[in-house]
Amino acid sequence: MSIILDGKTTSNQIKEELSVQVKGIKESGKRPPHLAAVLVGNDGASLTYVGSKVRSCERIGYDSTLIKLEDNISQDALLETIEKLNSDPLLDGFIVQLPLPKHIDEEVVLHAINPNKDVDGFHPTNFGKMALGMETFIPATPFGIMELLKRYKLDISGKHAVVIGRSHIVGRPMSILLSEKGNPGNATVTLTHSRTQNLAAITNEADIVVSALGVPNFLTADMVKDGAIIIDVGITRVYDANHHKGYVIVGDVHYDAVKEKASHITPVPGGVGPMTIAMLLQNTMLAYQRNQD
Ligand code: NAD
Repeated sequence: MSIILDGKTTSNQIKEELSVQVKGIKESGKRPPHLAAVLVGNDGASLTYVGSKVRSCERIGYDSTLIKLEDNISQDALLETIEKLNSDPLLDGFIVQLPLPKHIDEEVVLHAINPNKDVDGFHPTNFGKMALGMETFIPATPFGIMELLKRYKLDISGKHAVVIGRSHIVGRPMSILLSEKGNPGNATVTLTHSRTQNLAAITNEADIVVSALGVPNFLTADMVKDGAIIIDVGITRVYDANHHKGYVIVGDVHYDAVKEKASHITPVPGGVGPMTIAMLLQNTMLAYQRNQD
């Protein structure tokens, strides 16, 4: 039986800490941090994510702006919007919710964001700084996982960490952060992906597994060793006629069986997801502080 790494409660603590900071800022007569989110199209999951980011901003006293654009917007028009946000002195940071429609080149768009406002940490300048261990905006999902490990005082130094998935927003930065000098950090990392052979043999050797591939119930109990720390990043909507929404959210980890073997495990929902939002807010506070200097 494992200890649940409760991302919901931990994220609420972080939000509470940030709201205390915002209160102090407002009492000193200054404006609060301001985050904007750009949403292109009407994808249901994206609408949900952006909605909860905006609501979280409001809850802790940040200013927030939601910019909704039609899914047939041209790339040039989107780039113009980004230029305006880049040069708005009263805006500290902004995100462009992914995925973007097929006719838009995500890389071009993400690279157009002013690195000083790139609170998602996806711009090459910020990614490079993160890889060099410099202070910067760290991609919110891996940042949230590191924060969760830290707040639960889990020592991963010298341990074998296996990351499943090599995306630029989760798996790749996760592998870098886990191996960096620091606490938490100093892990020996194996980054696995769709071409990895004998994945189960590798995960069975792991003291910590971070699963970020997006395949429901992929990581089964026979793939993990007793006492491992299991972090489930996966979020997949699975059709369920019995649920009032018509779907349920399912993680990458076969939770009920794996929790019997793991020492610590994140649930889905209520694990990594809420931490991601908390760290986006934390990155926005950093952007604000730099903007004030
Ligand atoms: P992605 O599709 O960009 O990357 C998936 C990765 O998984 C790829 O690198 C691929 O090589 C690897 N992969 C695919 N099949 C594999 C296999 N059989 N064995 C080993 N590796 C395999 O996905 P992403 O954007 O990194 O997201 C991954 C999951 O995490 C999705 O479910 C996504 O919804 C979720 N996610 C959650 C949060 C959060 O806040 N909790 C944030 C971002 C993404």
